[in-house]
Amino acid sequence: MTEADGSPQLDALIVGAGLSGLYQLKTLRDLGFTVRVVEAAKGLGGTWYWNRYPGARCDVESLSYSYSFSPELEQEWTWTEKYPTQPEILRYIQHVADRFDLLRDISLSTRVTSAVYDEKARRWTVTTGGGDVIGTRFLIMATGCLSVSKAPEIPGAERFQGPTYHTGHWPHEGVDFTGQRLGVIGTGSSGIQSIPIFARQASEMTVFQRTPNFSMPAGNRPLAAQEISDMKENYRDWRGAQRASGFGVPVDKIRAKVADPEVAEALCPTSFPFGTKRPCLDTGYYETFNAEHVHLVDLRKTPLQEITESGIRTSESTYEVDAIVFATGFDAMTGALTAVDIRGKGGVALKEKWGEGPRSYLGLAVAGFPNLFTITGPSSPSVLSNMIVSIEQHVEWVTDCIRYMRDNGRTEIDATTGAEDDWVSHVEEVGNYTLYPTADSWYMGSNVPGKPRVFMAYIGGVGPYADRITEIARNGYEGFALKT
Ligand code: FAD
Ligand code: NAP
Repeated sequence: MTEADGSPQLDALIVGAGLSGLYQLKTLRDLGFTVRVVEAAKGLGGTWYWNRYPGARCDVESLSYSYSFSPELEQEWTWTEKYPTQPEILRYIQHVADRFDLLRDISLSTRVTSAVYDEKARRWTVTTGGGDVIGTRFLIMATGCLSVSKAPEIPGAERFQGPTYHTGHWPHEGVDFTGQRLGVIGTGSSGIQSIPIFARQASEMTVFQRTPNFSMPAGNRPLAAQEISDMKENYRDWRGAQRASGFGVPVDKIRAKVADPEVAEALCPTSFPFGTKRPCLDTGYYETFNAEHVHLVDLRKTPLQEITESGIRTSESTYEVDAIVFATGFDAMTGALTAVDIRGKGGVALKEKWGEGPRSYLGLAVAGFPNLFTITGPSSPSVLSNMIVSIEQHVEWVTDCIRYMRDNGRTEIDATTGAEDDWVSHVEEVGNYTLYPTADSWYMGSNVPGKPRVFMAYIGGVGPYADRITEIARNGYEGFALKT
């Protein structure tokens, strides 16, 4: 369907072609809706398209980090390792796209820059970076919780004469640091996965650590044929258990692995309780610091001052390097949503509404922004879960909602302010029963200067959350105002 001026009119526009956007496309298209996906990247896969740094892999087991919606897909795809690598996940995503013929409804290299709600027409007008205008009844933001890389915020970063890289935007052709002096800033999951591999290449490597993290050995290995066939036999039961679950946790032995006691001490996390920042899984991370050419700089003792033309200066010394890797993380959860100029009723900007932190109903909808859905949005379990489980939950809920509206002649759905306020209070209340708010983490937004300090995920558990949103839908979308 098109407007008189030729611009497309859709039932639903999905922004983002990662695991969320692809499944959302499939479910809505299967019901006969006119749907399109727009994706800023040149390829599919979202996280697994962008994060190509060496060592990038999932830390949820492959047999669990995969779609559950198709028993046939489960049977025909065979994972090779316990924790799949980024290239293998990307191949899986490509396979899914081919198998369900998704590409024909996806526009790549297309970034959405603004979306304005027309209250009269009850439709969104979406504009892309290339100036295309798309009209749509429903706008589904499948833009990812960890898709906007965070700048390092270090004075002088632009002065450095050598190459710099961010783990979240790794060059497709790869980078070889052989024979180079490398500086790595950041020791979160991305740093911890890539540092052991950089150490095999670089002639000297200096790791600049501000906060040591908890990390456990991944114990990665190839999957045995028997394990795969056992899982394939029991997939259905396993998937049911997954959807009803909360999440799982582990322990630590840093001092036994690192020879230099001073380095070991510096690597031990002490400033936040276990689990309040996301724990990491590694392959030989701590042992890497036993190599003579690998050095650790503890930025808590000698703070980072600036990046110079040829190196990194702390309060104590300057480290000359040929290249720098920023493993400095993301503007998580809200970054991709507030990067788009989204205007709801009365022209209110989402960024303005979220000025003091994200407010949403169920992490799925925002009061005053009708017909807009956020997949794994802030204040849903999202990043506190095996994300593919939360993604499927949300996608299926949104699809059922849009079907319900079509079947019942409704053209607008908007969360009520009261329901949103209650949900925000509930999320805050259960968050405050935990230690999460005590840590400076990206869960709290505190890794981005100026970002409001709010616990942005729902800790109530994937299973109970699923029961709640299902109940809300069953009761005719409680907490939402629907218009015919
Ligand atoms: P994404 O994969 O982030 O896709 C969002 C897409 O939207 C991106 O391709 C982006 O380019 C696009 N986009 C954003 N804004 C716009 C715009 N304005 N216009 C057009 N396109 C736009 N989760 C786990 O559960 N287990 C793990 O082990 C795990 N490992 C991870 C490792 C890394 C390195 C990272 C960064 C994340 C990891 N995650 C993990 C979280 C991961 O993000 C999710 O599991 C999942 O891949 C998210 O899928 P998505 O489709 O929701 O979002
Ligand atoms: P991150 O966890 O936010 O880590 C960023 C690191 O950079 C932290 O050590 C941080 O220190 C440091 N940093 C940021 N700015 C700095 C500055 N100006 N000066 C000095 N240090 C600075 O980011 P990430 O490692 O990319 O991981 C983000 C999330 O992505 C993970 O938590 C996880 O959810 C997902 N992920 C998962 C995997 C996996 O194993 N499957 C792999 C990668 C990513 P502070 O802690 O002091 O801020």
